[in-house]
Amino acid sequence: MLPALVVFDCDGVLVDSETIANRIMAECITAAGLPITYEDCRSRFVGGTLQRVIDTVEQWLGRPLPPDWKADFETRRDAAFRAELQPVPGVAAAIETIRASGVPICVASSGNLEKMDLTLGLTGLKEHFEGRIFSATMVARGKPHPDLFLFAAEQMGQMPETCVVVEDSLLGTAAGIAAGMRVLAYAAETDSDALTAAGGQTFTDMRALPGLLGIGATARMGAAD
Ligand SMILES: [Mg+2]
Repeated sequence: MLPALVVFDCDGVLVDSETIANRIMAECITAAGLPITYEDCRSRFVGGTLQRVIDTVEQWLGRPLPPDWKADFETRRDAAFRAELQPVPGVAAAIETIRASGVPICVASSGNLEKMDLTLGLTGLKEHFEGRIFSATMVARGKPHPDLFLFAAEQMGQMPETCVVVEDSLLGTAAGIAAGMRVLAYAAETDSDALTAAGGQTFTDMRALPGLLGIGATARMGAAD
């Protein structure tokens, strides 16, 4: 049976932003007096909100970050996105196949709407999600809590158990499972065993996504016009 709704995470699933964002984040946290590597940023922060990063770093530092730290990080990160950002390999074709099957799609991200507007716009994916873009800023609790995925399902008029989440982070996979949804976990850049342990069904090639959703070549041809 086809899912009633496919809920896409944004960073690392639609847009290939994690390498860029965590490189800039490591530079900005190090500049604030806490030396940290790119690898540490990735393993500790991927999938959560920027506020979660700030809260954690301030706890480690034992003092607040400078007042302009967040704005400076976002400015540098967004400049790097404009210069370098690409869609995740194969995701545009996968989305087109899913849409042609008639299964609705939406986005649910820890990032804010301004960030998604930029990254989905730069990668040419925004047209697929107009009016169906949901952010952790719209709910009380971010991932790994289920709030955002439940909100997205409600806004799209679907029951959680009929929805499939596509995630790449441990926090996001845990959030999808907590929401009672099936989670397809894209493991190209995240530890596959850890995603499996969190309850995700792992895959490493976006070309496989329509098939994992039960959407085949026949369904695509039948629905295409
Ligand atoms: Mg992600």
